[in-house]
Amino acid sequence: MIRLRVKLKGVVQGVGFRPFVYNLARGLDLKGFVRNTSSGLTLEVEGPKDKIEKFLLLLNKEKPPLAYVYSQQVEFLEPVGYKDFLILESEKTEERDVLILPDIATCEDCLRELFDPEDRRYMYPFINCTNCGPRFTIVEDLPYDRENTTMKVFPMCSECRREYEDPKDRRFHAQPIACPKCGPWITLFSSGGKLLSEREKALEDTVRALEEGKIVAVKGIGGFHLLCDATNEESVKLLRIRKKRSEKPFAVMFRDIKQLKEFAKPTELEEALLLSLERPIVLIEKGKGIAESVAPSLKRIGAFLPYSPLHHLILHFFPKPVVATSGNLSEEPIVKDNGEALEKLSDLADYILLHNRDIKRRCDDSVVKVVGGVPTPIRRSRGYTPLPLFLPGRLRKKVLAVGGMLKNTFAIGVGDKVFLSQHVGDVENLSTLEVFEENVKDFLHLFKFHPEVIVCDLHPRYETSRWAEKFSEKEGIPLIKIQHHYAHILSCMAENNLKGEVLGVAWDGTGYGTDGTIWGGEFLLCRYGSFERLYYLKTFKLVGGEKAVKEPFRVALSLLFEAFGEEGIEVALKRLNGVNEKKVEGIYRLWKGSLNSPQTSSVGRCFDGIASLLNLKHKVSYEGQAAMMVEDLCDPAEEGVYPFEIREGKIDWRPALLALLEEKDKVKAASRFVNTLACMVSEVVKLTGLERVCLSGGVMQNDYLVSRVKEFLKGDKIKVYTHQRIPPNDGGLALGQVAHLLEI
Ligand code: ZN
Ligand code: ZN
Ligand code: FE
Repeated sequence: MIRLRVKLKGVVQGVGFRPFVYNLARGLDLKGFVRNTSSGLTLEVEGPKDKIEKFLLLLNKEKPPLAYVYSQQVEFLEPVGYKDFLILESEKTEERDVLILPDIATCEDCLRELFDPEDRRYMYPFINCTNCGPRFTIVEDLPYDRENTTMKVFPMCSECRREYEDPKDRRFHAQPIACPKCGPWITLFSSGGKLLSEREKALEDTVRALEEGKIVAVKGIGGFHLLCDATNEESVKLLRIRKKRSEKPFAVMFRDIKQLKEFAKPTELEEALLLSLERPIVLIEKGKGIAESVAPSLKRIGAFLPYSPLHHLILHFFPKPVVATSGNLSEEPIVKDNGEALEKLSDLADYILLHNRDIKRRCDDSVVKVVGGVPTPIRRSRGYTPLPLFLPGRLRKKVLAVGGMLKNTFAIGVGDKVFLSQHVGDVENLSTLEVFEENVKDFLHLFKFHPEVIVCDLHPRYETSRWAEKFSEKEGIPLIKIQHHYAHILSCMAENNLKGEVLGVAWDGTGYGTDGTIWGGEFLLCRYGSFERLYYLKTFKLVGGEKAVKEPFRVALSLLFEAFGEEGIEVALKRLNGVNEKKVEGIYRLWKGSLNSPQTSSVGRCFDGIASLLNLKHKVSYEGQAAMMVEDLCDPAEEGVYPFEIREGKIDWRPALLALLEEKDKVKAASRFVNTLACMVSEVVKLTGLERVCLSGGVMQNDYLVSRVKEFLKGDKIKVYTHQRIPPNDGGLALGQVAHLLEI
């Protein structure tokens, strides 16, 4: 007889691990116990040696589908004479090492019950089980038990209690377990705040409102969505006006993959992503039938499938796809609480569908795009957060990295693990800064994390960097500021498990450089801890600073002035439709006098400038719009490249600009411009002799560009690394900031 003790760390709570162990031990007639702790799961079994060995084998082989173990500590001990096998009460310990699961899309078993008239949870919008349901958005504290979730206010009925306590039931210890008798329910309100209906009736009324072309705010898993008929041009336009969002694309939710294929053309890989457990929004080519104003003048739409029972129910009764965009005023954080919804969404929605299960923390939908043949997160949030990312080494200290300013996420890092936060958004104003702070404090509490060092961006005017300065001072924790593009490349190195030196190609819209100029077209020699700027795009002036970001024609003019001097005015007037002479001359004077015209090497801005020169867009209404339009125009069959020169570390793009201006055909011009950028990468790779190339920064979301770079570098012994788990854009910056402290 021997006694075996196993301590597991990883995703081992809320995934049916204890019933699995219970059934396994009982099946082998072993005695002992299993229990959750704040750091994972501990079990002991006692019995004959051969059975214990079999137990250990099966423990690893047959563990529950959602479980993920990253550490297993095994000890053999003297038997103590257990009489039975029991599931013991959870144990609170000081150490916190348990992984919290993301919110998981409704599973097949639950869906079957949801639509089974015989089932007691028939049509119940909060059905879930051990394999599915909310997790991250309802956890208040650890260990993950019902009293530590927002479900604690719903005492279980006797039937739910029986399922919850039965190790053979598929809802054994499913913390959010509920049924129509004992769990939360939905209520429909008018935009004026009047209660209209409850439960089944509220669902019926919601569907009717959508049929009438109305806009309905619906409380989901990590916040509110605004829903309307995605095929109804009038409704979508109205939503745009109310949301003050003129052109930025809306996501569309489809009933199922079959319906989705009637309106869009996913590839096989995209279909797999749409159906994955995480249920992200996937950017796919659109077909016919969706209202044009859903994604004006773009080739792709953001499509996704229902992931909560409530979504399934709405789309079961409403026969058409729905716009499902986050419930917020533009630039503000997504609304998550009932009171907040009635107050803030009343001007946006005609009806508000609430429920009484509280959302503990916001979590926006995730977005994925296939870039260069690889699924690449554009936004990593619901479905992924807060599972850790693993580093290729250990961190010197416990790190809090606050990320960038736009598309912010922050991260905490300890040992070889990094927990990247959910999408926080653009931290540019007071309300988003408050949400940022709230989220950071929430993470520190949830993970009982005490940082020993803080990392922020070098940019003196990022709100997050300023916050980090204050926090560092108040808490007496040292602060490290690191360069933006260096952090981008570190994030790519870290997620690809690279050590040593790489050539980093960091291309994006804006990042503060070590010389005080705005970088964004960088070739960096990077290693964990330091970098050198090897090559960069010849700089040009951003006339009007921030204004140039919203008005690509300013960049177009700047590029022309850089190439032609004053004669650029004439070229511009011939070239740019609808830009008036006075304006052009005014901008020339500002350019000449370098008034409010910081120097930049930004490739992102180059895309803007080209979009304007091709008369695609002179003013944008959201970040990245011009670049997406250029990408959409590109033709993979076009192989031409424009000339450029590399001198003294600078890549002179002016010869390419001259060639582009000669081009009559827009498609050719756009494609050749991007081909030229890809060619710049391959030329620099040759010059440096480095064999590992990391592509990062927002520009690397461009599928056409990344595919071209990969083609250019194919065959050589060059290895190209891109992002697959975190976004190439500033949403992935925090991982790089953490990785700066790797001990390698
Ligand atoms: Zn389920
Ligand atoms: Zn119940
Ligand atoms: Fe960036």
